[in-house]
This record gives sequence, C-alpha cells and structure tokens, in this order.
Amino acid sequence: MDFHLTPGQLALRNEVHGWLQSVMTPEMEGFPYAEEEDPAMLRAFNRRLAEKGWIAPSWPEEVGGMGLGAIEQLVFGEEMAYFRAPNGARGPAVGYAGPTIMMYGTDAQRRRHLPGITNWDVVWCQGFSEPGSGSDLASLQTTAVRDGDDWILNGTKTWTSSGHYADWMYLLARTDPEAPKHKGISYFLLDLKSPGVSFHQLRNIADRAGFGQYFFDNVRLPQDSLLGEENRGWYQATTTLDLERSNIANAGSARRALDDLLGFVRESDASPAYRQRLAGLAVEVAVATMLSYRVASMLAAGQVPNQEASTLKLFLSELDQRIANTGLQVLGAYGQLMPGSPLAKLRAQFALTYLTTVPRTIAGGTSEIQRNIIATRGLGLPR
Ligand SMILES: Cc1cc2nc3c(=O)[nH]c(=O)nc-3n(C[C@H](O)[C@H](O)[C@H](O)COP(=O)(O)OP(=O)(O)OC[C@H]3O[C@@H](n4cnc5c(N)ncnc54)[C@H](O)[C@@H]3O)c2cc1C
Repeated sequence: MDFHLTPGQLALRNEVHGWLQSVMTPEMEGFPYAEEEDPAMLRAFNRRLAEKGWIAPSWPEEVGGMGLGAIEQLVFGEEMAYFRAPNGARGPAVGYAGPTIMMYGTDAQRRRHLPGITNWDVVWCQGFSEPGSGSDLASLQTTAVRDGDDWILNGTKTWTSSGHYADWMYLLARTDPEAPKHKGISYFLLDLKSPGVSFHQLRNIADRAGFGQYFFDNVRLPQDSLLGEENRGWYQATTTLDLERSNIANAGSARRALDDLLGFVRESDASPAYRQRLAGLAVEVAVATMLSYRVASMLAAGQVPNQEASTLKLFLSELDQRIANTGLQVLGAYGQLMPGSPLAKLRAQFALTYLTTVPRTIAGGTSEIQRNIIATRGLGLPR
C-alpha cells in the first residue's frame, strides 16, 4: 500500500487548510454534539463553503459536487474536523439524503431537492430512530397509510439531530404492516412545515440542544414524497449507507484534541506520569488514521467496506472517549470547569468532550452493534 498522497491530493489539503486558517475564528469552532448550534452562523459558514463548491465535494459535478474521489473526500474531511469547522447538518444532507435521491429519485425529485443541498438553502435531518426502535430499526412503528395518491403519516421520530432548525426530513415509515418487518417499509421525504408536524427539543448530557423528537399527527404526504419503490425503503436505506463515501469517519478531531493537550502539557507542570499515556494516544490516533485510509482506499477501488467501516467507527469513537478522559485528568481540577468559567483551560474542551463523546459510541450504531458486525461478517463467527 502506498501511504503517500498524490500531488493533487496534497494541493487539495493545502488549499482547504489555508482557507480554513483564514476564515475560522475560535467562536466558530464546534465540538461534535457539544455545540449549541447557532443556525445563523451555520448557514453563513455553509454558504461560504457552497460558493467554493465544497458542500458536497464527492458528488458528481452535474449535481453540484466536485466529482472528487474517496481519498480526496477523506483529506477534505480531516481538515474540516481538525479545524473544528461548523458542520451542522451537512452529514445527513450530503451523506444520506442526497445520495439516496440521486440513486432512487425521479428526475423531478433530483431537480427539486439536490440544488437545495449544494446551495445550502435547505437543511435536512434524519428520521430513522423511534423511541422503541434504534439498533433494531426495522421494528419501527411510524405508519404511512395510502389515501388516494397520498399517504397519511402518524407516529414519532426521536434523537433527530439538528431537528430544531431542519427544513426537511428523510424518513422511514411502515407502509405494509402485514409484510415481514424489513419488507413493509418505505422511504419518504417530508417538508417539516407540513400541517400536523410538531417538534419537542431534547437536551443532551452536556445540556446542549442538539437533537429532539418529532411527532406526526395525520400528516399528509403528497405522491412525490415517496422515494423509490413502495415497501423497498429498508433496502434503499441500507444500500445508500453501504455505498456512503461522503462521511468517511476521520481522525481529524482526535488529532486536534491530542495536539491541544500536548501543547498544554509542554508548557505546564503536568506530571511526567502522563507521558506514557499521551504517547499511547498518539499511536492510537495514527492507527485510527490508517483505519480511515483503509476504508477510503476500498471505496476508491470500487469495493464496499463493511466490517472495515465498523472497525473504524468503533475504534475512533472509543478513542475520542479515551482522549477526553485523559484530558480531564491531565488538567486536574481545572479540567472540570465548563465553558464560560474564567479559569477554564483549553476553552474547557475536555469538560465538554468528556460528556459529549459518550453519545459517539451510540449514534450511528452502538459499539455493541459494531462488534457484532466485526464478529459475524469480519471474523465469520456464528450469529
Ligand atoms: C447524539 C445522537 C444523535 C443521534 N441522531 C440521530 C438522528 O439524527 N436520526 C436518527 O434517526 N437517529 C439518531 N440517533 C439515534 C441512534 O441511531 C440510536 O440511538 C442508536 O441506533 C441506538 O438505538 P437506541 O438508542 O434505541 O438503543 P437500543 O437499540 O435500545 O440499545 C440499547 C443497548 O442495547 C444494546 N444492544 C441493542 N441491540 C443489541 C444487539 N443485537 N447485540 C448487542 N447489544 C445490543 C445497545 O448496544 C445499547 O447498549 C442519535 C443518537 C445519538 C446518541
């Protein structure tokens, strides 16, 4: 395997790096699940990205992307994460809604929805999980019942990230209650301003408003809300997830957190006892980086990563927790001060990330689910 980036990939890294250096301010920096996301700031930043064509770099050019490959996309993502650039809801729109619309949408749906994503006019959120359906998503209970050409939607979706400022939701609903559970589900696109839609804000472990719960009370879904084939929604959702390459997890934010911590330790009287641990974390960041390049290399070679993506997600999300834990300990009593405290060190990032890295091992499939995938599909162990 050749670990070197091509001159073009290096030029991209330098360009993204230089641009972020020129536009990012400390106030704009965001930690995953920790931001009290300011919709106006997110919109302003994403509009600037849109002007450069950088909302969806890996999408084909004819739908507003740059046609970049998986390695370039990873390089781009690493820089954005290292700088803690505002993300908001780019992931759901660029990573899931857009590719699924490209793959299964009608021409009219593509024309209607894709430009709104790459211009950053429309913010999308994901309506998959329900109070009783997370890991076992196919057990979902939200229903869409035919009414002429339309459907009537009833039920609830929860843990909806960025739900408080999203405009549209892509969601899964049960359209055939008699069919086996995976076979009676359809994929819909919902305008969240539709009558009968309501939202309840939830606050996370760090008291941040990052996600919420949506309720649907006889919401009318017009004919063109259905994406792809009726009752094939489950398979459409999983195909898009498997082929997904816009959201290759990267170790950029882990590297940045460790760099911040190392900078502090070099200039402070922190105990030398932490040396071993910090050196160990540096090795783990390098491992996570290699795992992310393995996933990107597979995608670049036209393969579909499966347990490889699970290994990366599992390792990286648990590494984030180990770094936050170490940061908190190295900073001692100061480490516990939350943002806003005048005595807080390193902008109180470890007090915050100690809390907000907890959901990293839940969102997007829990660690147990990733281990199940690695065990069965990777190691060939029986179910
Ligand atoms: C910060 C955050 C943001 C999120 N954003 C979104 C979003 O935008 N849209 C959306 O649709 N969802 C979102 N989710 C929901 C997320 O996808 C679910 O929380 C996740 O899939 C787990 O489901 P659950 O919470 O229902 O837990 P459960 O599935 O009930 O799991 C409970 C526990 O049981 C374990 N478990 C379950 N099944 C197995 C098994 N087969 N083998 C071993 N252990 C098992 C789990 O690992 C976990 O420890 C978000 C979650 C978080 C934390």
